[in-house]
Amino acid sequence: MSNVVIVTGGSRGIGAATCQLVAKAGNIVCVNYVSNIAAANDVVCAIEGEGGKAFCVKGDVGNNDDVIAMFKAADEYGTLTGLVNNAGIVDVKSRVDNFSPQRLERMMRVNVLGSFYCAREATLRMSNKYGGKGGSIVNITSAAATIGGAGQYVDYAASKGAIDTFTTGFAREVAQEGIRVNAVRPGIIDTQIHASGGEPDRLEKLVSTVPMKRAGTAMEVAQAIGWLLSDAASYVTGTTIDVTGGR
Ligand code: NAP
Repeated sequence: MSNVVIVTGGSRGIGAATCQLVAKAGNIVCVNYVSNIAAANDVVCAIEGEGGKAFCVKGDVGNNDDVIAMFKAADEYGTLTGLVNNAGIVDVKSRVDNFSPQRLERMMRVNVLGSFYCAREATLRMSNKYGGKGGSIVNITSAAATIGGAGQYVDYAASKGAIDTFTTGFAREVAQEGIRVNAVRPGIIDTQIHASGGEPDRLEKLVSTVPMKRAGTAMEVAQAIGWLLSDAASYVTGTTIDVTGGR
């Protein structure tokens, strides 16, 4: 059976770069997306154009039924050996005293519950407790979790703080079941997420605060994810790798 790796939010940004790298390592890649089918198809075509194998599955990670259906779809292609909990959202700049219940519910549902739903489905397939052969899970957190996002998006930062704790606890919970769980903490990375938070010029505004004085690329983050997924990281679990240019 071929090895399958699911990358949530694989259609754009860090997820798309990760899909390319994971395919080059010989895996069949499940490119998850929520709305941008053209971008997801572009990722699949680019992988196939280089001789790799990939397929895309539409699904909201914050919807339990969608997550179950996505994992079932991936089962048809081979054995699940990797999961990258990458799908994530921000929202427009706002203060805590102005957050609506709808905003908070969406932020936590996608960024936190989504990773839990996917982790559950991956564990049911990977854990040797359930007859699985093990695997590697990588959660994508953010430098925002350590600095708090004051005046901008404390809700987003807190959702990533939850992912940090989740990574530690979940890694210890399944450490004897053949599953490694780690996280990657990107800093300021050149993707469309900043425009979706209403700040297309965010990179230019913040780049002077980065010791390396530049934004990172999606592929620079993907390299760390790819290493954690690989057997080269066989004794690494419960760890977070900062990819922040020193910030
Ligand atoms: P991005 O360019 O905005 O891409 C987001 C991806 O997630 C897209 O593929 C999108 O799908 C997908 N997505 C959004 N909501 C989803 C949902 N509910 N269910 C499934 N997929 C969903 O984002 P990015 O910058 O690459 O960020 C990726 C991860 O890195 C996120 O967790 C983010 O918080 C984290 N991060 C990013 C930065 C940065 O500076 N870029 C820094 C720190 C952490 P569609 O194409 O269908 O919309």
